[in-house]
Amino acid sequence: MIKPTPIVYLEKLGIFLKLEERNPTGSVKDRPVFFMIKKAIMEGKIEKKWIVEPTSGNTGIAMAMMGAKYGLKVKLIVPESISQRKIRLIEEFGAEVEKTPAELGMRGAVEKAKEYVEDGKAVMLDQFSNPNNVLSHELTTGPEILEQMNFEIDAFICGVGTGGTLMGVSKVLRRYFGDHVKIFAVEPAESAVLSGEKPGKHGIEGIGAGFVPPLFDPSLIDGIVKVSTEEASNMKDYISKKEGISVGFSTGANVAGALKIREMGFSRIVTVEPDSGLRYL
Ligand code: PMP
Repeated sequence: MIKPTPIVYLEKLGIFLKLEERNPTGSVKDRPVFFMIKKAIMEGKIEKKWIVEPTSGNTGIAMAMMGAKYGLKVKLIVPESISQRKIRLIEEFGAEVEKTPAELGMRGAVEKAKEYVEDGKAVMLDQFSNPNNVLSHELTTGPEILEQMNFEIDAFICGVGTGGTLMGVSKVLRRYFGDHVKIFAVEPAESAVLSGEKPGKHGIEGIGAGFVPPLFDPSLIDGIVKVSTEEASNMKDYISKKEGISVGFSTGANVAGALKIREMGFSRIVTVEPDSGLRYL
């Protein structure tokens, strides 16, 4: 069921949006989690161990589902501030959830997960540095976008959580277009660490982890666009009320970022809807 997702054209905004909510657990994260788990099983890394992973939720939901399917023990470490629906979904698939203090953000969850790995009973697939995360987008998301856009794209833009989506898609677009495509990262204006600023609190769940993820390679992109939580939230609202698609906050950020780069003169701009607004009701 992890198979090509549709791209829709937002007519009022003039932006192409790839609907990743159409994955089995409702987010873009089914792709990298499937790759990371299959590879770890193949390489004998899991066996009887627990899988422990820090996540803002969507990775956790995908891991919980695949843990159920493959009979694996899964524990997700999440900042307590994430949406309650995400936590309920993780529990629905039978995985364990442990919450870390909101003020520590994703970094708090990462530190906690490392403690479990140190005692040898758990493995962390580590979405922030696992190359199979990027590979999943390089082999699936990127080629889908190329084909669905009839090989005509001026610019691609998307937010950075782990950077998996941005890096995997960038590799594919660069291979085909070289410098004839422009690629941009989106990050929260309140926590613009990719732009060299300090981490801060923000409300765009899924991106802006507060550190530069090891998978992020700045040489693959042309620029970074900052979007505030307010801009993301307003755009999320606009897309549901005027385009008729309920989207998450990071989609609001991606589309707000896409409109900023459209002012530079690009016409065929593609971005991603990592998850649906239903996740945040
Ligand atoms: N938006 C949401 C809602 C997410 O869950 C994620 C994944 N953390 C992203 C955006 C960013 O995706 P990536 O990890 O591939 O950078």
